[in-house]
Amino acid sequence: MTQDAATLGTVRRAAAKRLAEAEIDTPALDARILVATAVGLAPNALPLSEDRAITGDEAVAIEAMLARRVAGEPVARIVGSREFWGLSFSLNADTLVPRPDSETVVEAALAFVDESGGRSRPLRLVDIGTGSGALLAALASELPRATGLGIDLSPGAATAARDNAARLGLGARLLFVVGSYADCAGMADVVVTNPPYIESEVIAGLAAEVRDHDPRLALDGGADGLDAYRAIIPQLLRVMAAGGRAFLEIGSAQADAVTALAGRHGLVACVHRDLAGHDRVVELR
Ligand code: GLN
Repeated sequence: MTQDAATLGTVRRAAAKRLAEAEIDTPALDARILVATAVGLAPNALPLSEDRAITGDEAVAIEAMLARRVAGEPVARIVGSREFWGLSFSLNADTLVPRPDSETVVEAALAFVDESGGRSRPLRLVDIGTGSGALLAALASELPRATGLGIDLSPGAATAARDNAARLGLGARLLFVVGSYADCAGMADVVVTNPPYIESEVIAGLAAEVRDHDPRLALDGGADGLDAYRAIIPQLLRVMAAGGRAFLEIGSAQADAVTALAGRHGLVACVHRDLAGHDRVVELR
């Protein structure tokens, strides 16, 4: 008796069931992304191709991705990319997976640009600790006359960010350099940053998908989680004095501490919340 050939649809459903049994949080979504990626389709295109029989090679590729997911690897790491602000960013071991919460940084910065009538001006953007380049590329995609500088301590991150910007058609307006916070003191109209802000001691207790797969350099904010802000804020004073604004992503319990830190340098802070209602961004002027 011959068995019906497996189709993308039957494989996708079996994958979702298997991920659910492995207690993965979003089994249907993950199965769709992994199966589609394994066979070279965009996840959105999968439903239209579900009657297609899969080849032996595809079955092997799908199985390899599912095994990694069952073992606890995040989907973004397996497929090597993540959507942020509607754009796709390639990732490597040196880049944090862009989080939806960080879109609050982009929203807050764009709100400032709009209030100040800046969309049509050639704004200068700086992104400190740019990682995959997500914040800077998202802003540049909205501000067609802006130019930007992305800085990262990690050469691997700077390379990923540069590649992402080029692929998104933003390469001519964005420059990426390897460097530290101290190198960001140049002038800018808008500074954004999602620095490491987790307390060192807490990292061991983070969810395994973060702890084991995001770069420690992008997470570890020192003993009280505030090391990066202590280093960055003094670098911003010239920018602020010239009327620029800075948008700092923070941990949800850090708004008071970062506001106080900025206050000691004479900067005024306002706090923006993310979609979950958590304090997420400190805006400095
Ligand atoms: N938001 C990230 C997390 O919760 C932390 C990123 C960071 O430290 N900047 O894992």
